[in-house]
Amino acid sequence: MRNERDSIDLIWNVAELAGLFEKKSTLEGFLTDVVKLIAAHMQSDVCSIYLYDSFRDSLVLRASHGLDLPHDKQVELRVGEGITGHSFAELRPICEADAPSSRYFKIVPGLNEEEFRSFLAVPIRRGPNRIGIMVLQHRQPDHFTQTDTRAMQAIASQLATTLENAEMLMQLRHVAPAPERHYETSTLSVVRGQSVSEGFAEGRSVLIEDRAVQISVADDRAAGEEEDLASLAHALEATHKQLEMLQREIEHDLSDVASMIFTAHLLMLKDHEFVASIEKLIHAGSGPQAAVRSVVHRYVELLSGSANARSQEKAQDLMDLEHRVLRNLQGTVDEGGDYTGQVVLATDIYPSELVRIVAQNAEGLVIAEGGVTAHISILARSLGLPVVLCKEARVFELRDNTPIILDAFQGNLYVDPDDEARKQLQVMRDSVQSESEDGRPMPEHGLTKDGTSIKVMANINLVFDVKLAERNKAEGIGLYRSEFPFIVRSSFPTEDEQYHIYRKILSSMPQSETILRTLDIGGDKMMTQPGLPERNPFLGFRGIRFSLANIDIFKEQLRAMLRAAADCHVQILLPMISSVDEFSRSREVLTDCLAELELEHVPHCETPDLGIMVELPSAVECIDELAGRADFLSIGTNDLVMYMLAVDRTNERVGGMHKHYHPAVLKALARTAQAVASQPEKLSICGEMAADIRMLPFLVGIGIRKVSVEPRLIAKIKFALAEISLDYARRSALELLSLRDIDEVEKYLGIEPGQV
Ligand code: PEP
Ligand code: MG
Repeated sequence: MRNERDSIDLIWNVAELAGLFEKKSTLEGFLTDVVKLIAAHMQSDVCSIYLYDSFRDSLVLRASHGLDLPHDKQVELRVGEGITGHSFAELRPICEADAPSSRYFKIVPGLNEEEFRSFLAVPIRRGPNRIGIMVLQHRQPDHFTQTDTRAMQAIASQLATTLENAEMLMQLRHVAPAPERHYETSTLSVVRGQSVSEGFAEGRSVLIEDRAVQISVADDRAAGEEEDLASLAHALEATHKQLEMLQREIEHDLSDVASMIFTAHLLMLKDHEFVASIEKLIHAGSGPQAAVRSVVHRYVELLSGSANARSQEKAQDLMDLEHRVLRNLQGTVDEGGDYTGQVVLATDIYPSELVRIVAQNAEGLVIAEGGVTAHISILARSLGLPVVLCKEARVFELRDNTPIILDAFQGNLYVDPDDEARKQLQVMRDSVQSESEDGRPMPEHGLTKDGTSIKVMANINLVFDVKLAERNKAEGIGLYRSEFPFIVRSSFPTEDEQYHIYRKILSSMPQSETILRTLDIGGDKMMTQPGLPERNPFLGFRGIRFSLANIDIFKEQLRAMLRAAADCHVQILLPMISSVDEFSRSREVLTDCLAELELEHVPHCETPDLGIMVELPSAVECIDELAGRADFLSIGTNDLVMYMLAVDRTNERVGGMHKHYHPAVLKALARTAQAVASQPEKLSICGEMAADIRMLPFLVGIGIRKVSVEPRLIAKIKFALAEISLDYARRSALELLSLRDIDEVEKYLGIEPGQV
């Protein structure tokens, strides 16, 4: 008789998983260790991992502890075949007390599975991506319990990222060689662009797409084969160490968006076929650098040719790896990270790439287009990376190492600046610095001149932002945009990964209120997940529509939020609510999650608040009904203005029409505040309008008592509030509401025509 576990023990955290990598020299070795550990932990005779091969639409047995795998051929199951294939096809765990008598049981010749009576199959998935399946088998019948199923689900969730990368790399082993690429360079001087994320940066240029190609590969054939093999081994080892160190560093600050960001790199280094192919070329007479380039390019060509955005992203990972290995072979890598003293040029950039270059100390970034959606600018701002958008093609043809100064306040790029230009820029830099260092102590609370409390909370995009919010004395978190871990990883974080992220946020300010918003993807917050491109993404599959159509993903997120708030309170905010019906359906899903967690005895918050974003005109029209049902409301003016005025907030041609003081918007806000006039604590505002100090008297005057803004703006808002009396605010609101057109409002607010 074995001991019953009374709780779901998680057998790894990320650091332990990384530790497991460190011990193993091959990918297969790593997987073998994983199954061995799970078998021991689950007290099971057999543990196997099958990974899904999407090219062949089949499950391939990659590692097993307890089964004798045939050496000469791989074991493969069709989706739907056997208990394993069936569980995978239906994406649900299957637990059989006596597997051989199950109608789904199938004998795989040579595996001798008939000896094992108990069977537990648990699919591994990440959001909509099917990754593989883990199978436990045991000689005694009726061995596995419901607790075991849940434990295996938790383990599957922890391993999903790593296994997904492992499968992708395993599939890439048999590919054709690719041609070498060429690169043109030229020079130019000053270029005007557009600011995406403010700041100054100075450094030498490096083009990200071809950064490895820029390292010229000399004929580096050394005196002997032995010597070349030794220097290859040394370079791979050094690369491995550097990547692990980098991974650990970013885990500390950016674990929500950067967790396992170097997994593909590390797995590749552990892949004996990858290393063996390079060695083979060295045996055949290549120098180590040329051999590395040739093998990496074979993989990269295949990935780049794929229409799948995720594969293309992996191609970038591999080029990055090549760059590192080559530099180690040349003895030129500095331990601190690759981009110190460099301004990165990239025609397009993935969010994960952005996080990576920040982790690798990039000074600044210039992008051409594409990807310039909300997530790139929000991320860059959160991470403090100056970014300029520049459509001048020649910038991206610059020779490597060209000196560049980036003025990402104005959106200007100075190429090879002379001393005079440098001096002028330094003056500008100093003046920006003295403006931001105001010197006054940060006020603790938001208070009007006559002492009315107006809570000033923080909008958080990354866990990283929490520190700044605390430093700037935020009175709570008024909006956590949960989509960033989804967008940046370009894959879905599992329930467990989400739990850890939400836990960090909720525990950062335990005494203050924290509002976690459910996934708001779509519109300008696109993911690189495969999906149907939409003609009108802003009017498409956005926010709550996505969650309600993907109940499993929605439930994972809600469960993670509830679990993370086991010892505190949580307010869950729903984006893009357009009707009472959507709210009611969401409430039902939340109720289901609460019941499930109760049944599973998983600690969680039992009385969460469920609120809505008021960001659609339809929500304003139904505000009384919605306010009656929702526990709280948060006004999102960024979208509300866009949808009320039919102005795409990312379209330069109409951007100037996105005026949050338009009389229609002012009336909509007053109406919303009126709906909760007797309970002002139920209402907050989190759109950018809340940070416009010209509008503060109006907001206070209509009855808003909580505002949520970017952390860096908190003090500015508190200082402005201290100048406003309640009386003045009320009068100002009434006057503004009586004005008939935009012109009159602009005059009243002292806004020059043409200014926004
Ligand atoms: C808004 O729409 O005002 C808002 C705060 O949400 P987001 O900017 O994330 O769409
Ligand atoms: Mg919004």
